[in-house]
Amino acid sequence: MTIDHPNTRTALAAVRQQIRDAETEFSLPADTVRLIAVSKTKPASQILAAIDAGQRDFGENYLDEAIPKIEQLAEKSCRWHFIGNIQSNKTRHVATYFDWAHCIDREKIALRLSRQRPDHLRALNVCIQVNIDNEVNKSGVFDAETLALADQISQLPNLRLRGLMAIPSPGNNFEAQRKPFARMHRLFEQLRRTHPSMDTLSMGMSADMRAAIAEGATMVRVGTAIFGARPQK
Ligand SMILES: *Cc1c(COP(=O)(O)O)cnc(C)c1O
Repeated sequence: MTIDHPNTRTALAAVRQQIRDAETEFSLPADTVRLIAVSKTKPASQILAAIDAGQRDFGENYLDEAIPKIEQLAEKSCRWHFIGNIQSNKTRHVATYFDWAHCIDREKIALRLSRQRPDHLRALNVCIQVNIDNEVNKSGVFDAETLALADQISQLPNLRLRGLMAIPSPGNNFEAQRKPFARMHRLFEQLRRTHPSMDTLSMGMSADMRAAIAEGATMVRVGTAIFGARPQK
């Protein structure tokens, strides 16, 4: 496999700089925010260019294309984040191939992931997806249901509850984008009173990562700004 994606390297460096700038702007310690490079639909060669530039956390949504890439890049010690919805017939693959699952929104899926996590692997890191704008047809739990699910997940031996994740409805400007992220931050702080192990707020994508960082994101999931536009599904 050749590493020949100069644009990926340049774009990755630019995104890293934007994150550093936002950390400075909002008075956060350096390296508060971890960058998940969302490589869905992109070839392994492009991921390799990012690895070569020091990136190790990658996000994928579609198991069929993710698994061959994960296998191909197995020696690179990457951390793979599953950032799509998980159907119950897909839990075994997520439990086997991934280090993180960001979109848990029901106990049934959590139970299956814990049961199917292979013994030789460490606990799967998970986040609860919150439907922070109460949108119809959007996955995620409502604010009021989050604590109950957190309590359930904490009982499961092979999962480690790390935090919350959300994809707010798109805001047209910075101030509008901040609002749902601010609500996420308040919910996160509330839950941490009873679940002090939670340390992750996974929010912010290419178009709104500065607003997410302003409101306390600890992980941003950035695809387009690093790897370029994706074909429409
Ligand atoms: C695709 C995707 C991203 C990345 O989105 P960009 O707009 O390309 O940065 C982040 N999070 C989730 C859950 C996604 O599905």
